Amino acid sequence: MKTSFSDIQLADSHMAVSEKILRSCVHCGFCTATCPTYLLMGDELDSPRGRIYLIKDMLENGKPANAEVVKHIDRCLSCLSCMTTCPSGVHYMHLVDHARAHIYKTYKRSWADRFMRAVLAAILPYPQRFRLALLAAFFAKPFRPLLAHVPVMGPQLSAMIDLAPSRFIPRPRSLPAAGMTGPRAKVVILEGCAQPVLNANINLAARRLLARHNVDVVNVPKEGCCGSLVHHMGREEDGLSFARHNIDQWMGVIEREGVSAILVTTSGCGTTIKDYGFMLRDDKDYAQKAERISSMTKDVTEFVATLTLDHVPIPAHSLAYHSACSMQHGQKITDLPKSLLRAAGFRVKDVPEGHICCGSAGVYNILQPTIAEKLRLRKVDHIERLHTDLIATGNIGCMTQIGKGTEVPIVHTVELLDWATGGPKPEALEALSHSA
Ligand code: SF4
Ligand code: SF4
Repeated sequence: MKTSFSDIQLADSHMAVSEKILRSCVHCGFCTATCPTYLLMGDELDSPRGRIYLIKDMLENGKPANAEVVKHIDRCLSCLSCMTTCPSGVHYMHLVDHARAHIYKTYKRSWADRFMRAVLAAILPYPQRFRLALLAAFFAKPFRPLLAHVPVMGPQLSAMIDLAPSRFIPRPRSLPAAGMTGPRAKVVILEGCAQPVLNANINLAARRLLARHNVDVVNVPKEGCCGSLVHHMGREEDGLSFARHNIDQWMGVIEREGVSAILVTTSGCGTTIKDYGFMLRDDKDYAQKAERISSMTKDVTEFVATLTLDHVPIPAHSLAYHSACSMQHGQKITDLPKSLLRAAGFRVKDVPEGHICCGSAGVYNILQPTIAEKLRLRKVDHIERLHTDLIATGNIGCMTQIGKGTEVPIVHTVELLDWATGGPKPEALEALSHSA
């Protein structure tokens, strides 16, 4: 794509990166075929190519964002399916991240939208606040029909309430670091923000699995949110401060304890942490450290695949493997989790149209509830046609989104691997018969 940015514009590092990305796009339109929003709406401006044109026009001409651009960029899930499809290697993720930051700086949203986004940014990255908010949403459930009719914000408020669990979530129990002598490796597991509140068992399962295979998990008590929730809302500085905070915490244990990897059990967070090196490339105090942290970050399945797992016999359940967008498109991890599950004795089935997002996408299902609901229905329909005993995935957002639309139990891949190597049966599978 031909561009005409001025030298002054290109002196800005963000602009220089975006210009390079724009120039790599050859307008072929292959990406439209796998874009969920184009699939649903059939509007070129809701396709990757259409959005690329909108972003080019906005950035190249130095324009503030307008309502039209914001509408179509807001509808983008950042699922990155277009990056997998694109034959020219267009880095859409960095381009849309730049566009969202530009929108945040130059566009004044309606008061209701600003309020909703501010509330999400103030609550979700903080586990204690999020836990209280879920409690409030739990008690607000009976009023959902009334709240749905609140002017302007009704759909978002009811989407928030829908995401609240239908029972109280126990506080996460903390496990001490394994503390064994002569471990084969020392790692950190990102505790994260929303995941331990929504399902504390995922990281506990990962810890048990690793301890059983002589891997020591070092606790990092002051670690925080990875920053992706605010980063995807265009709050660039907020995202960077979460990143810097975590880098400081992790560099401490890397130097003190000899930690060799940072493991992530939520693929959405993993995609962001693997991008810290890029996000902080212009920060002279953090660029090198961020690069190091990104290169040490692994999805938990990537690390588990380096171990020889000691399997125990479990019922040979069939499962539908839902590959989160951040896993398959963001981190390009596709077959590995399925191979681990097969080796553990599960009969793994691929979900038709598996490259299409389930509609979770961070806070997308709250901010764009109508599109998110359509994508959930589509995903659940494909999954239920497989008639499997359970669903497995590697991202808490997808677990919550899909789990709200089906009775088929949904569990994290690492919970199943823990079970298959001597851990407890995942809570969500308690109702399944023992003989599959
Ligand atoms: S990230 Fe997903 S929703 Fe956004 S343009 Fe690409 S394929 Fe479409
Ligand atoms: S597939 Fe790639 S090169 Fe083709 S229009 Fe889409 S982003 Fe551009």
